[in-house]
Amino acid sequence: MNTEPRLRIAMQKSGRLSEDTQALLKRCGLKLNVADRRLLAHVANMPIDIMRVRASDIPGLVMDGICDLGIVGDNTLEEEELARAAMGTPNAYVRTTTLNFGGCRFSLAMPEEFEYKGLQSLNGLRFATTYPNLLKRFAQENGIEVDFCLLKGSVEVAPRVGLADGICDLVSTGATLEANGLKEVAEVFRSKASLIQRAESLSSEKQAILDTLLPRIYGVMKAKESKYIMLHAPKDKVAQVSSLMPGKETPTVLPLAGREDMVAVHVVATETFFWETMEQLKALGCNSILVMPIEKMMG
Ligand code: ATP
Repeated sequence: MNTEPRLRIAMQKSGRLSEDTQALLKRCGLKLNVADRRLLAHVANMPIDIMRVRASDIPGLVMDGICDLGIVGDNTLEEEELARAAMGTPNAYVRTTTLNFGGCRFSLAMPEEFEYKGLQSLNGLRFATTYPNLLKRFAQENGIEVDFCLLKGSVEVAPRVGLADGICDLVSTGATLEANGLKEVAEVFRSKASLIQRAESLSSEKQAILDTLLPRIYGVMKAKESKYIMLHAPKDKVAQVSSLMPGKETPTVLPLAGREDMVAVHVVATETFFWETMEQLKALGCNSILVMPIEKMMG
């Protein structure tokens, strides 16, 4: 039997974070087949196992040392941390990095007809929520008293059926709130997905696997935010062209065969490249402006 240590990563089995998490791991070069029903998926080309569970179980699995790493929303993480602190259960973990997906806000929302006059107007009201500890902390910090009822899903329906006055739930576009006759009145917590690690240090073998994986994760994230830009520019406008480029990378300037007046400029833009910038480049006399996605980056 092969006893080589394997790094165990917990991810959401199905739901809002599962596709992005799978995509990230695949872009890091992990060959994993999660199409089947297996809850512990073996990565074929690296000593890594992926444990596919409910999002709400991930922080506990990492804090209890069952999994070495986990990919989970900050809201779920913080809620579990607060719940464990209240019960005196060990709740230590390390946030290895914040990831660039899973962005949402945890917000208070009231029926459209409610006259919101600041947080004090919510005093004494009852809110349906999946994350009571986050809500309680917010209420305490803001000097209001609210009651809550716990709902694991379909939270938006609570005010309409008389279960609560309002809700405190995750929002990204606000379309679900609107469809249910609710309006967002205050943001309680801003969340993104995070890669977390158990607090206790890893064995040297597992640390070595993580040391290979982590630069790949950073590389995938950086590549997603970056673009490779190629254009032809008038030779005497190179300085102006460079100053228009988003990000801090120095451009590569190359001669163009048969042209004395024009050069090719290549640059990696680490910030958003807007249409307006392309128009400004064109106005400087640039042409053949190409903006291309980057698949991987390192160094
Ligand atoms: P599970 O059922 O797996 O325990 P869940 O019910 O929280 O978890 P999802 O609704 O798939 O499952 O949400 C997973 C995570 O996705 C949330 O905890 C949050 O971090 C993130 N997320 C991002 N955008 C949203 C959104 N608009 N609504 C809900 N969650 C969002």
